[in-house]
This record gives sequence, C-alpha cells and structure tokens, in this order.
Amino acid sequence: MSWKILVMSTPVGPLGSGLGGGVELTLVNLVQILNQRGHCLQVVAPQGSAIATDVPLVGIDGNLQITAQTQGRATPAMLPSNAVLANMWDYARQVQADYDLILNLAYDWLPLYLTPFFSCPIAHFISMGSLSEAMDEIVARIVKKYPGTVGLYTVSQANTFPNPEQYRCLGSGIDLSLYEFCAEPENQLAWLGRIAPEKGLEDAIAAAQQTSIPLKIMGKLQDRPYWDQLNQQYPQAPIEYLGFLSTQELQQKLSRCRALLMTPRWVEAFGNVAIEALACGVPVISYCRGGPAEIIQDGETGWLVEPDRVDGLIDAIARIEQLDRHLCRQQAEQLYSLEALGDRFEAWFAEIIRTNNDRD
Ligand code: UDP
Repeated sequence: MSWKILVMSTPVGPLGSGLGGGVELTLVNLVQILNQRGHCLQVVAPQGSAIATDVPLVGIDGNLQITAQTQGRATPAMLPSNAVLANMWDYARQVQADYDLILNLAYDWLPLYLTPFFSCPIAHFISMGSLSEAMDEIVARIVKKYPGTVGLYTVSQANTFPNPEQYRCLGSGIDLSLYEFCAEPENQLAWLGRIAPEKGLEDAIAAAQQTSIPLKIMGKLQDRPYWDQLNQQYPQAPIEYLGFLSTQELQQKLSRCRALLMTPRWVEAFGNVAIEALACGVPVISYCRGGPAEIIQDGETGWLVEPDRVDGLIDAIARIEQLDRHLCRQQAEQLYSLEALGDRFEAWFAEIIRTNNDRD
C-alpha cells in the first residue's frame, strides 16, 4: 500500500534553522523512512527551508509564527500579517485533492481549526505539551470530532492535556547509521538543545562548575539575552559553546562525552537529543520529568534525578561509570530506529485513512 502524503512543517522557522527544535529532526526522519517505503511525499515549509532528502519541498513565503512556549497560557491564538502558516494552509487547501493524507506538524491553532473545512483527512502530530488554553480547546474539539487523528510523542506529554487517553503516542526515531558508537569518551559532558529558559541550561552549567568537568554546549541560540545572562552569572564555569551543529558534527562531538545532561524546566514532550545520545553510546542524566523520564532506563542507560536539583545532577555525574555505554546503543537500536518510527506512523496513518474512507 502506498499513499500520497502532504507533510506540513512547523511555521516557526525554515527547516534546517533549528528554530523548530526537535520537530525538525522528527520531520526529516519521518520523510526519509516513508519515502524509502514507497510513499509519495511532498513537504510544505517556510521559504528558505532545506532538507537532505530527494523528497520535493515547496517553500512558502510569509512571516514566521511566534513560538508558543514564549507566550502565556491565556494568550489568544495569533497570526502575524502575511502569516506563513496561513499561506501554507492555503496551499494545502488548493492541492489537497491530490493527497490521501495531510500530516500536520505545527503546534498551532489554525490547522486544527481548519480540519473540518478540508476534505482530505489530516493527521495532527503535536510536538509540545499543553501551553495554551486556546490550543487545548481546539485540540480537544478535533480529537473528539475525529478520534484517533491526534498523535504526540509520549504519555507524559499526553498527560498535560485533558483526556490524555485520546491521543496516540508515537515516540520518535532516528537514522542510527548516522550516529557512531564511542566506547571511550573524554572527560567532558554534553548539553544539547535550543538555548532558551525552558531548557534550564543554568543547572547544567552550575553542575559543570561544581564538578570542574568541561561542558560542551551545542544548539540553536534562540534566546540571546538569556544566554548573555548565563555567561555573566557563571564567568568561571568550564563551558564551551560549539554552535548549532549539523547531525554529522553533533554526533562527532557528542559521542566523545561521558554523559548528556538534560535539565528541562518544562514537561519536555520527548527530547530527541536523548535518543541521539543513546545512539552514540552516551548515557543521559536528566531531571525526572516529561519525555526523558520515559526514555531513560534509570541505572542502565542513564540516571533520573529529582527535578531542579543541581546536587542531584552532581551526584549522578559521580556515578556515570556504573552505566554501560553498549547498553545505551542497544536501547537506541531496539526502540528508536527509523524502522520502528516508520512502523508506528504507518499504522497510525492506515487507521486514519481507513476511517476516513468508511465515512465517505
Ligand atoms: N540539534 C541540532 N544541532 C545542535 C543541537 C541540537 O541539530 O547543535 C537538534 C537536535 O538534533 C534535536 C533538536 O535540536 O533534534 C532539539 O530537539 P529536542 O527534541 O531535544 O528539544 P526541543 O527543541 O524540541 O524542545
């Protein structure tokens, strides 16, 4: 069975910019495996997007959407003038007759609202936990009207929304062949991700300072004032910012670290960086909340630490040697391969397409 699928990217930034966070990698990986399996795909994304596959990409003009995590819960659904989100969905409306399914990866009100106005079924993949009342309400309305069409990463993420059992947990997966196992790391730690307050980088820096173990920081500098403030606060910390790296460069640096530190202040929906670390044989030390708490096998492939406790991180750093790096790679191979990701999404799509055909 092969389907024609229109993949709608996040409108917060061009693909490849890093502004979209983990959902950018999830999109690229999904497109790759679905393409390999013979489905016919087209990606729709903001102008300036680039992906390293031969799947056609349509760049759409317009102003980017403001990221939901920087807004308060009561903030209304908003669109800038000449919104790229609106333009992308106008394009989708025009071409929908050519597709069996539209996959929506935007964490935004508009595509959910538009669902009943489309004749082509839409699978909504929600990439963050509950952040706004307007979004919660529209998600609830669509999942009630079209049961089974709203997917997300993890149970912890589903639990941030009302009626969590209605959502389909799909996890994530990566192309393991791109990540090289490293058995003998150097004495250094890694921190990866968007540099923004919800990621709690200050705690990882404090842990690096107190243990005197160098911390390599990689990721999109999304909130410059926040980053400047951290540098002022910890002028002596043994940290080095390596920039926003490609997957190839990222895995090279990451694999040589003794552990990845994850210090989320929010309920991390998944944490693609956790499985990228495991794929390199790098154990993960994380606050025990959100996606990482479901991914990490405590005492086997990492340590789960009481949230917001730097002393807990330090204690876990002292116990890294108890973890087996081979087990980390094994876990990634068993649970987070592209094949496993493709199987879960194909099964989800099959149900949506079947239900939609039954409706007609
Ligand atoms: N990432 C990257 N280059 C870097 C650091 C991070 O491409 O130098 C990517 C990483 O591969 C991951 C994403 O940034 O896909 C962060 O996603 P995650 O799911 O961990 O968190 P999110 O940003 O979605 O909250």
